[in-house]
Amino acid sequence: MNEVKDIVIIGSGPAGLTAAIYTARANLRPLVLEGELSSSSDQPGGQLMLTTEVENYPGFVDGIQGPELMASFRAQAARFGAEIVTERATRVDLSTRPFGIWSREAEYRANAVIISTGAQSRMLGLEAEKRLLGHGLSTCATCDGFFFQEQPIAVVGGGDSALEEALFLTKFAEKVSVIHRRDTLRASKIMQERAFKNDKIDFVWDTVVTDLVGDSHLEGARLRNVKTDEESVLEVSGLFVAIGHIPNTALFAGQLELDANGYILTSQGTRTSVEGVFAAGDVQDHVYRQAITAAGTGCMAAIDAERWLESRHD
Ligand code: NAP
Repeated sequence: MNEVKDIVIIGSGPAGLTAAIYTARANLRPLVLEGELSSSSDQPGGQLMLTTEVENYPGFVDGIQGPELMASFRAQAARFGAEIVTERATRVDLSTRPFGIWSREAEYRANAVIISTGAQSRMLGLEAEKRLLGHGLSTCATCDGFFFQEQPIAVVGGGDSALEEALFLTKFAEKVSVIHRRDTLRASKIMQERAFKNDKIDFVWDTVVTDLVGDSHLEGARLRNVKTDEESVLEVSGLFVAIGHIPNTALFAGQLELDANGYILTSQGTRTSVEGVFAAGDVQDHVYRQAITAAGTGCMAAIDAERWLESRHD
């Protein structure tokens, strides 16, 4: 059997890397499976890698770029001896002791596991999405906005993410239409004010996207007004989907208790339904979902795991 690690941390967003900093400083020599590069938010560094300016992370008076913040988290964890491998966990066995964690490259054993696999973008569920993702359809304005210079584009959603994407996209686009299924926004007041003030942004209220137009490239979105049933086509060359997130918990289904939406259930801090397995960050939080709260629960998971490991030696 491979060497048994004290702690394996799965995921490397603010939660996972904060857990790595704390457990490394507690001399637990954590191993972090940081994930592999991908175009979704399910990647090393997590969702902040797809963000530009982070203005509400305490300590940065003038804000900081998301990827820069995550690079600092990672370097800080490495500085204290966390071992970080660029591998994605493909299977776990939480029914055996020590626990088993597999990637494509290796098999790991651990006395305790911290799960911080985060969440990823929810999609509209249209057949055409598969065909047009990366060809005009995107979930990441930061990554793809540049391709739409002086073009008409649209964002779907009414939350902070949708408005953040829309505001960012006004740097490039000729016009940005925000398509929302209701007539009031879920986004915070400050983001609403910024969006309403921006001349390049207009709102298409009470409207859902029913299909996408275009074979090899997006040419438009078919819309339906949910109040009048009126149908129309909005001609856009880019459509950004920002309608929330789905927790990355497929690996743990059947092994850990999840809530109805697939988030890991935690109690007494960060404990999951399996003793010795802890969860932190967006994978267990559908309420706050902030970098700072993810980092906070990462710290909690590290302390919970450390105390749990110590209690086994009493
Ligand atoms: P969210 O707050 O859950 O908003 C999702 C939006 O998408 C809602 O307006 C929702 O409509 C809409 N929606 C959901 N499913 C849909 C579907 N199938 N079709 C059409 N529309 C759909 O998600 P979020 O905007 O990603 O934000 C998540 C969290 O991160 C929030 O706590 C937010 O405050 C935070 N955040 C903060 C910032 C910032 O402070 N700068 C930036 C980004 C995110 P309904 O409103 O009708 O439900």
